Amino acid sequence: MKVCKFGGTSVASAQQIKKVGAIVKADPSRKIVVVSAPGKRFEDDVKVTDLLIKLAEASLRSENVSEQFNKVIERYVQIAEGLDLGREIQDIIETDLFNRLAADKGNPGLFLDQLKASGEDNLAKLVAAYFISIGLHAEYVNPKDAGLLVNGFPGRAQALLESYNQLSCLREKDTITVFPGFFGFTEEGILRTFERGGSDITGSILAAAVKAELYENFTDVDYVYAANPKIIENPVEIVKMTYREMRELSYAGFSVLHDEALMPAFKESVPVCIKNTNNPLAPGTMIVAEREHSFRPVTGISADGGFSTLYVSKYLMNREIGFGRKLLQILEDEEISYEHSPSGIDNLSVILRSHQLNSEIEERIVHRVKTELHADEVHINSNFSMIVIVGEGMRNSTGLAARATAAISRTGANIEMINQGSSEVSLVFGVLKHDETKIMKELYKEFFVPALVV
Ligand code: ASP
Repeated sequence: MKVCKFGGTSVASAQQIKKVGAIVKADPSRKIVVVSAPGKRFEDDVKVTDLLIKLAEASLRSENVSEQFNKVIERYVQIAEGLDLGREIQDIIETDLFNRLAADKGNPGLFLDQLKASGEDNLAKLVAAYFISIGLHAEYVNPKDAGLLVNGFPGRAQALLESYNQLSCLREKDTITVFPGFFGFTEEGILRTFERGGSDITGSILAAAVKAELYENFTDVDYVYAANPKIIENPVEIVKMTYREMRELSYAGFSVLHDEALMPAFKESVPVCIKNTNNPLAPGTMIVAEREHSFRPVTGISADGGFSTLYVSKYLMNREIGFGRKLLQILEDEEISYEHSPSGIDNLSVILRSHQLNSEIEERIVHRVKTELHADEVHINSNFSMIVIVGEGMRNSTGLAARATAAISRTGANIEMINQGSSEVSLVFGVLKHDETKIMKELYKEFFVPALVV
């Protein structure tokens, strides 16, 4: 049994959903289909989820929302008409959205989640109706009825372990299950969405729960590429990689799969295949537990901006017991998570995602580190990028860091930080944001030219 998840661009229009129908029809083992909300049909289009967020926000401000409401409904009407479905499904969707808008707004986070989730929920109903219309034995299944239990904050749900047992019953169904991605319910029956892009997580949870033979994640690229095609022209295709490699790559900018989506599949050893709805015969990228060694030590290179560094120095820091803990406590008090923490003898840097900071928070942190930890020097710098070189083969090859640093030095850029995790699957370089592109190009040249498939 295979679980397939179709992303936003795969369900953005009637034409795309017809391709989904053909893909599901082509393989009877595709028994569970998870859908996103309709995404972008063209470059400047707006995703339905973003339309819904705008609608919810306007409604929370008690504005007249009829225009935003109609924009959302219009997307579904166009799809339903393009698929020759009758009025009934359009009415169901319109009533559903109307009821969600009329719900209690006492808790804005909860209200927002309700509206966001309608994007996938209503599309799943529509896709199930379409599947039936083309002769597939299909059924819409709601996450509440199926037992997808979550906890956590609005917009940041986490699946509970009990979910897996309950969802395993989907295996027994003789119909094709059409399941909305992106949300679950708390034990009290309250809807919570995952992070943005979270339909990938739903697909992975279902694949793990039913112990699927494969989790197919359909998107709009033939393969995952060794580097961002927006920076590198025709990058090498990755035919196979491990969960760990994908995890490291998606950490820094590989947006093909949500980084929380790997764990459920990994725990149950369900292989993941990234495939293209527009070219389903392309084999895609397989993500597996182990892979044979390739002649190439590096599998991919990714880069992500939006990092800041908190730099702290204090003479004899190395001998001060508890210094690191106290420093991290200050960050915890500000509800800030950190990414890396490279250190010297008398200094320590903590690398953070910049979106967690603003000038007030920065001032408070610097003040506390100075006064409570008596640091000699404290400052926060922003505009850093992390460049991550990833590959299982790196563990067994020598001289790789030398090749990487030599390549970076050829660009004239300065390396602000180097971090090699103990797993040795990745090597991370902190650089200034404005040097990111030229470094990526030079590293790609170093490790992937001449281009051969990994
Ligand atoms: N529709 C949601 C989003 O745009 C979830 C998803 O597509 O996975 O983030």
